[in-house]
Amino acid sequence: MLFDRFDLQPDDPLLALIGEVRADPRRHRLDLSVGVYRDEEGQTPVMQAVKAAEAQLVAGQASKAYLGPAGDADFCAHIADLVLGAHAGCQVAGLQSVGLQSVGLQSVGGTGALRLAARLLAVNPRAHGAGPATIWLATPTWGNHAPVFAGAGLHIRTFAHTDAMGRALDFAAWMEMAERAEPGDAVLLQGCGHNPTGIDFTAQQWATLATCIADKGLFPLVDLAYQGFGLGLEEDAAGVRTLVERVPEALIAVSCNKTFGLYRDRVGALLMTGRQAAPLAKGMAMAKALARGEYSMPPDHGAAVVRTVLESAELTALWSDELDAMRTRLIQTRAAIAEHPLASELGLTGLVDQKGMFCLLGAGHRVVQRLKDESAIYVAPDGRVNLAGLPLARVDDFVTGLAAACR
Ligand code: PMP
Repeated sequence: MLFDRFDLQPDDPLLALIGEVRADPRRHRLDLSVGVYRDEEGQTPVMQAVKAAEAQLVAGQASKAYLGPAGDADFCAHIADLVLGAHAGCQVAGLQSVGLQSVGLQSVGGTGALRLAARLLAVNPRAHGAGPATIWLATPTWGNHAPVFAGAGLHIRTFAHTDAMGRALDFAAWMEMAERAEPGDAVLLQGCGHNPTGIDFTAQQWATLATCIADKGLFPLVDLAYQGFGLGLEEDAAGVRTLVERVPEALIAVSCNKTFGLYRDRVGALLMTGRQAAPLAKGMAMAKALARGEYSMPPDHGAAVVRTVLESAELTALWSDELDAMRTRLIQTRAAIAEHPLASELGLTGLVDQKGMFCLLGAGHRVVQRLKDESAIYVAPDGRVNLAGLPLARVDDFVTGLAAACR
């Protein structure tokens, strides 16, 4: 007997809320839990650019024969352009001048890219002597980071990203981490729209961190899942570009699932940056070998859709307009909450300085439970709010519900 010997694992507490919200008969229920973008009507529609690309694919796709463990190479080149800035030829002046090069492979979403990155770090033969490779995680962070990294065999060490309420960056803790870490340790940085706090680094902080990471010989892994949800496609990539410009090598795990609304199609890429072609080719070969052993090859459809959008100037413009509309709604929602008469009492005025889909309430389990029981407002168990689930027309319900739950 095998199965019966397993301990019964609880459902992921966040994903379990999906069913709970659906089963809640209260018509005014508000789902601010799982990180999915919703429009003012509460829908997560397929983007028009995606629909158009899918129509083209259905009409024109000539074959579905295997592409190999690295997936769609043209998709990866377009993602490198988006992240590193027309980088196919390294046209961004700063990156070009330092001779930056990149390679990449398609992954099973951002999670798959993180998993592959973790495996690359874990198989690293020389950096750590006998023990497992270490990755430093700034907490709070996305709930799946630790399971993915631990599952790949990495040793996890944590430090604080923010103060205890999740309202202000603890940059001193980042500096201290750089002091305490051993050369060769990896460190995870979220590229923009930090999950769950919405608190990103300033340009100056990116530059300082990049220098510390390079000086100490740490290995940076960037998780970039929300490019375009903060200030704009270019602006949101600025920090990552500063980093890769200043460090010898980096890994970037990219997710297209939020930015193209492709969630269940599982689209992502793992990029590697460096200065020389030969080590990058080895990195790529190792990543392909690991991918082959994990799942053989990534699913094609979603990446083919993204490639089709990015190959066409017209579809790219349409997609970028749709992404602008999503970002604008998020910024408006943040402003509406911060301007609410109860905002300062609840510590919500700082929301306008934060970026992306999420903020943290800094409230305990009791408040989260009362929000659900008394106001039918569902937030994640750690108090994370998906602002993209909040229609502007319901901002007042949210803030007054929160005030009641906090009393
Ligand atoms: N990183 C962060 C910070 C995320 O929030 C998410 C999605 N919640 C991911 C990575 C991975 O997303 P996916 O696997 O759906 O691309």
